[in-house]
Amino acid sequence: MSTTVNAYAVNESGAKFEAFNYELGDLGSHEVDIDVLYCGICHSDLSMLNNEWGMTEFPFVGGHEIIGTIKAVGADVTHLTEGMAVGLGWHSNYCGHCASCSSGDENLCAGAEGTIVARHGGFADKVRADAEAVIPVPEGLDLQSAGPLLCGGITVFNPMLQFDVKSTDKVGVIGIGGLGHIALKFLNAWGCEVTAFTSSDAKRKEALQLGAHHTLNSRDASEIEAAAYQFDYLISTVNVKLDWNLYLNTLKPKGRLHFVGATLEPLDVSAMSLIMGQRSISGSPVGSPASIVKMFDFANLHQIQPQIELFPMDKINEAFEHLESGKARYRIVLSNV
Ligand SMILES: [Zn+2]
Ligand SMILES: [Zn+2]
Repeated sequence: MSTTVNAYAVNESGAKFEAFNYELGDLGSHEVDIDVLYCGICHSDLSMLNNEWGMTEFPFVGGHEIIGTIKAVGADVTHLTEGMAVGLGWHSNYCGHCASCSSGDENLCAGAEGTIVARHGGFADKVRADAEAVIPVPEGLDLQSAGPLLCGGITVFNPMLQFDVKSTDKVGVIGIGGLGHIALKFLNAWGCEVTAFTSSDAKRKEALQLGAHHTLNSRDASEIEAAAYQFDYLISTVNVKLDWNLYLNTLKPKGRLHFVGATLEPLDVSAMSLIMGQRSISGSPVGSPASIVKMFDFANLHQIQPQIELFPMDKINEAFEHLESGKARYRIVLSNV
C-alpha cells in the first residue's frame, strides 16, 4: 500500500518552497512512518536549500528537527508503537555494524543517512525513517518547542557528555542564536558558571535571562583579553571568523575550545598557545540516539525548552525569510497542528 506525502520542496538552488507530493512505497521491516506535528528550521536547511555543500538533490524537502507521532510500524520494530510521540533529527538511519555504531557513536557513522540528504525530510505531513534513529519523547516534554532539541539542542548537549563538562566548570558560549541560546540553558542547569559571548547589545540582556551569569562582547578585544585564563570550556556556535587566538587565551590550562558552528574559513591558531597551556581544540556533530535520550530526560527534568517562534507549515517561505533576516528569537518551528 502506498502512502502519499504532502510536502514542501524547492526545485532549484535558492528557490522558494512549493507544494510537492511523493509516494513512500512499501514500509521496510525496520522502518516507521511518522505523522509530523512540528518541525524546526535549522541553518543546515538553509545551507542545503542553497546547495552550499554541493550535496543537495532537487526537489529538496528540508526539515530535520521533527516531532510527530508514529503512524505505521515495520514488522521488526519492537520499541516504537503506533501513536507514540517521537523525535527525528539529522540522521534517519545508521549502518548499524561499523566500529562507531558498535560503540554507541552512531552519530559518527560514515554510512549514516541524513534525513534531508538524498531523501525527503520533515517539511511535510509525514516522514519515514529507520526505527533506530527515531527517539521516543518522554511524557512531560513540551512537543511544540521540542523539535529544535533534535539538531540544535543535541549539537550543544553532546559535547557536555563527550568531554565531561563539570558542574564546577566555568564555561563560555560564543554566539547566542539557535544553538547558543539552548547551550546557555543546558550549561546553567548543568550547574556551570556561564558566560555568553555576543556582539549584540540586545542579546546581552537576553542571554542573562536565558541562563548566562555574565556576558562579554565577542568583538571587543580588550574585554576578551581581560578574561585571560578564566574558562575550562568554550563552545563556539558561530559561523564567522573570530580572533581564535584571543579566545584560546581565555582558557585555563587544559581548557578546551570546541566548535559546533561550521565556520568555512580555516582556523588560524597559535600552536604555542595550545602547547604551553596543554589546551585542546575540537569539534563534533549532533549526537547518538542514546545521547538524545539523555538530553530529552535532562531537558524534561529541568523543564528546558528552546525559545521558539511558531509558523504554520504552509507559511514556510515567510518562515525562511524571517530566518534569513537574522531576527528569529531563537528558533523557528513549523506547525501542522
Ligand atoms: Zn555505522
Ligand atoms: Zn540541523
